[in-house]
Amino acid sequence: MIVAMLETATEAQIQDVTDHLMQMGFAVHRTTGARQSVLAAVGKRIDFDIRDLEVLSGVEKVHRISAPYKLVGRQFRPENSVIQVGKGVEIGGPQVIVMAGPCSVESHDQLFKAAEQVAKAGAKVLRGGAFKPRSSPYTFQGLGLEGLKLLREAADAHGLLVISEVMEISQIDLMMPYIDIFQVGARNMQNFNLLRELGKVRKPVLMKRGIAATIEEMLLSAEYIMSGGNYDVILCERGIRTFETYTRNTLDISAIPIVHKLSHLPITSDPSHGTGLRDKVEPMACASLAAGADALIIEVHPDPDHALSDGAQSLYPEQFAELMAKLRLIAPAVGRTI
Ligand code: PEP
Ligand code: MN
Repeated sequence: MIVAMLETATEAQIQDVTDHLMQMGFAVHRTTGARQSVLAAVGKRIDFDIRDLEVLSGVEKVHRISAPYKLVGRQFRPENSVIQVGKGVEIGGPQVIVMAGPCSVESHDQLFKAAEQVAKAGAKVLRGGAFKPRSSPYTFQGLGLEGLKLLREAADAHGLLVISEVMEISQIDLMMPYIDIFQVGARNMQNFNLLRELGKVRKPVLMKRGIAATIEEMLLSAEYIMSGGNYDVILCERGIRTFETYTRNTLDISAIPIVHKLSHLPITSDPSHGTGLRDKVEPMACASLAAGADALIIEVHPDPDHALSDGAQSLYPEQFAELMAKLRLIAPAVGRTI
């Protein structure tokens, strides 16, 4: 950490800040310039709040140098993490994995059709919510256990894996036999109790970026899961809330290369929730692949016009097949396969 003192800082104030830093466990190196003094604090601690120093008298600015997380950072693991999600499918390697399916599991017929269609087009993982975090309590809330059973059956019938959202701790054990990847939704990215419990399971977790979360907050949330012992974490950019109203969310594609620089964990892009509009899904999926996404998660419904949730952002099956064909053209240009 670097603490720049004000030009007007007194010797007593500089000493006070130095004492403070030493009490925090840092070794302090002072540089006395012609006008200003700068204190470099070196140490292993990462659990500090720079504001505690910024409020001390005589301090102008404090810069954090080391990251506030350990396990998710590249310092901990310089090479990319490759997560084995089952049936030989891995996320974070050269192959970009596409997860697709409806927003919610609605019925046997709907899900089996969706599974057949997405498998045929080349998806490896079937998505579908059995427990739904809906903004309104009056809208469809999901089929629960019945939905999980359908997911497993439909996925097995078409050689797919299953990803589904876990909304609370009590659902973890219930979901375990039916799913291959736990999805933590945007609204639960900072449900730290849930994240801690998912740290104890031995199944991959795809954790979505919160609606108003910074990239650093997303990485700190992933740290909760990893610090519990589960290193199989996949991040997901799904759009953040901005002042823009043309789209449901603003898909922050720049988060993909930023995460790759800071962390060894793979990152998925969700252009469906990221835009909220069917016709924007294809260009943003292509852009995400070009930007280095390790996986894509896309909503596809056999009959989007009658979907019980997120129909407007769900692709028609033939649109999804066309998208897959486009992605296959782009992948080699960025050194990947699909
Ligand atoms: C979903 O995947 O259907 C979902 C609810 O996503 P998010 O948590 O990103 O809103
Ligand atoms: Mn959805």
